[in-house]
Amino acid sequence: MENQSNFIKTIMENDLETGKHKEIITRFPPEPNGFLHIGHARAIITNFELAKVFNGKTNLRYDDTNPSKEDSIYVEAIERDVRWLGYEPSAIYFASDYFTEMFERAKLLIKKGLAYVDDQTAEEISKTRGDVVTPGIESPYRNRTVEENLKLFEEMEEGKYPEGSKVLRAKIDMTSSNMNMRDPVLYRINFATHHNTKDKWKIYPMYDYAHPIEDAIEGITHSLCSLEFEDHRPLYDWVVKETEMPLVPRQIEFGRLGIENTVMSKRYLKQLVDSKLVTGWDDPRMPTLSGLRKKGYTKEAIRAFILATGLGKVNSEVELDMLESFVRDDLNMRAKRAFAVIDPIKVTITNYPEDKIEYFDVPFHSENESLGSRKIAFSKHIYIDREDFLEERPDKKYKRLSLGREVRLFHTYFIQANDVVKDSEGNITEILATYDVATLSGSGFSERKPDGTIHFVEATTAIPATFNFFGQLLKNDSSLPLEERFNTESLAVKQGFIEGSLKDVLHEEKFQFIRNGYFNCYYNNDNKYIFNEIVALKKSYK
Ligand code: ATP
Ligand code: MG
Ligand code: MG
Repeated sequence: MENQSNFIKTIMENDLETGKHKEIITRFPPEPNGFLHIGHARAIITNFELAKVFNGKTNLRYDDTNPSKEDSIYVEAIERDVRWLGYEPSAIYFASDYFTEMFERAKLLIKKGLAYVDDQTAEEISKTRGDVVTPGIESPYRNRTVEENLKLFEEMEEGKYPEGSKVLRAKIDMTSSNMNMRDPVLYRINFATHHNTKDKWKIYPMYDYAHPIEDAIEGITHSLCSLEFEDHRPLYDWVVKETEMPLVPRQIEFGRLGIENTVMSKRYLKQLVDSKLVTGWDDPRMPTLSGLRKKGYTKEAIRAFILATGLGKVNSEVELDMLESFVRDDLNMRAKRAFAVIDPIKVTITNYPEDKIEYFDVPFHSENESLGSRKIAFSKHIYIDREDFLEERPDKKYKRLSLGREVRLFHTYFIQANDVVKDSEGNITEILATYDVATLSGSGFSERKPDGTIHFVEATTAIPATFNFFGQLLKNDSSLPLEERFNTESLAVKQGFIEGSLKDVLHEEKFQFIRNGYFNCYYNNDNKYIFNEIVALKKSYK
């Protein structure tokens, strides 16, 4: 962001130049009602990176004003994900830390004749709000005296009135052309236990009242939020002014980031979790940061992607291909390259001695020496991927193994397929082949050209591994109800092998399995090796 210009950075520069602010302070204010998703990454990166440009500060603040939906599980997950992205909050706060101050300032509004207790039901309030062409109707309770309002509001706080029976509303203008200014609700009664304040409070502030006060208390200079809050800005400013907050933050809206056919609403994602269609918020098919991480996306790729999408004043939607290409670009030079056979078929090299194993020293990445090297094995028994063999060569362009033809096995020898063994149903269970010792890689052999070069693993040293492949979580049709929209084919699990040299692979270590794609090691400790496909190789490679 340092070298990128955007409209918010320009505003900040100006505010520092004119002396309006001495320091830039931003905040990332998630509601702890779900895990963070890739859309949140835009808000996180924008807030932290902009503050960084000006040596400012960024708070992580939980906007925990609705106890019915919030949970400390989400509080922990959010902090973990922010840190995972590489950001250290200057301070961590909870909106609920400010409930007393908010309550006091609400009483100030009442005393100024700017707020009243309304006994109308939620339906009545929404019905009498009017619409763009119809002015709202004033509540019959709008002209209660200050004394009565104070008494009722305090009694609401004491828990004297049932949920839904009363609210506190701002007294602004029921004819305002901005619907948000038509006597918005400031407080509602809620008896749920709050994750932080437990049962202390019986009333909770609404977002539009709480948020500006939170920002002002923390001395936030630029309160960045997504575009849907644009119409709320006059109310934001009204709250700061009328509650007489000493510091005045400025709300600035930016466009939301969307990804094609990716649902990012936490409410929707929660339904997927609750219905057990996915294994949890961090299911690798989920667009959550924890899901993408489990799948194997790196923070570097996510950050580069977010910065490349730019920051505009309109909502934008990008293709999934764009995100995937950033993941590939990041892993291309960094991920070790090794062999895995995902759909194995046995190959027996009939002219190779039974008890012999050869090892070849091979770098993990021919263009990145820092990744080191490993020893790959070769013997009479190997596996290749089933899709690398056809009994009959279909045409001259076929670059794999077929009967009577030769291929090179990476880093080792040419092999020629001579025969196959089939089971009673006619499926090939084994390929019988011969190798030619003269063709060893690096020997300079040039008398024959093989049909192609394929990967393999030596069978007696190979390690059994599980490979998870992830497809689109949802079908493209957004009109379908959740259960039908869920793509039941979004997970495919395959059992194969990785080369024996990967015995000590680390949790979350990433590989390019040659000719197969990028994979993230995700193994549980009982000696099982599980790999998640991160992203396929570019389709053009074959
Ligand atoms: P959702 O609607 O997906 O549940 P939210 O906006 O309710 O998300 P919050 O916890 O309120 O989630 O969001 C914290 C911050 O992240 C807000 O400032 C919000 O504007 C921003 N944000 C959320 N989704 C996106 C997105 N897709 N693009 C950019 N910013 C986003
Ligand atoms: Mg929300
Ligand atoms: Mg929202």
